[in-house]
Amino acid sequence: MNEELLFSLMVDLHLEGERQGPGSSEETLRALAHSRLDTSSSLEVADIGCGTGASTLVLARNLPNSQITAVDLFPAFLDVLARRAEKDGVSNRIKGIEGSMDCLPFTEESFDLIWSEGAIYNIGFKKGIELWKPFLKIGGVLAVSEIMWLHPNPPTEIREHWEAEYPEIATAPEKIKSLEAAGYDLLGYSVLPPSNWITNYYAPTESRIPKFSARHVGVQEVEELIAMERQEAKLYEQYQNWFSYGFYVVVKR
Ligand code: SAH
Repeated sequence: MNEELLFSLMVDLHLEGERQGPGSSEETLRALAHSRLDTSSSLEVADIGCGTGASTLVLARNLPNSQITAVDLFPAFLDVLARRAEKDGVSNRIKGIEGSMDCLPFTEESFDLIWSEGAIYNIGFKKGIELWKPFLKIGGVLAVSEIMWLHPNPPTEIREHWEAEYPEIATAPEKIKSLEAAGYDLLGYSVLPPSNWITNYYAPTESRIPKFSARHVGVQEVEELIAMERQEAKLYEQYQNWFSYGFYVVVKR
């Protein structure tokens, strides 16, 4: 499928979603606790691949003296985030920036905390953790979620699926090793539970499909995208004991 069309259809399907990937406020807060940051201090925070702001808004509410720069490739998501921030009364502390996570317009050592949920895979984990590190102050914290194997040696069907889709998928010990090799030390780590995938992400996405379909009657690519989304949800249901998102919270050495 033509990439531009695929992107615009994906934005349309996910624009009204509370979140654009698996996660929850509870898990965002668990990771924030792992950061050991003083939540009342005035922190400079970046949320990279923020979507419509699921994590951005939780961070804004729980870091009441902080400034958050929220970055996404798609301005439509940032518009929704701006409206949600306004409604939550936190818009003065959130600045949306349209841009790509592999070409961030930041100055070195400017952030106390870099956050990224369900998004770093767009440029790859190893590349992302290297590229973003200079923007953290020494002692600054990176909190990042990334697809993981829960156990080694997964069944062939799911292993082949992920090796084709995202070859960087790995177990937590392998991810932690990459983080340490890139110059970070582990503060804490957690795994997203199934409700964060099914209740918070796949079920709401499925419920938006009828209207999404109706907005694009006769567009072949829409059927392809729906089939892709459903296949992904089905694989998760079937193999949820084998993969999830790991949420890694690390400090820059
Ligand atoms: N963090 C949000 C969104 C996760 S979905 C949440 O947890 O709900 C991944 C997000 O990354 C999407 O919003 C997508 O638009 C964004 N994205 C994809 N490629 C990107 C890139 N190159 N640079 C910045 N954002 C990107």
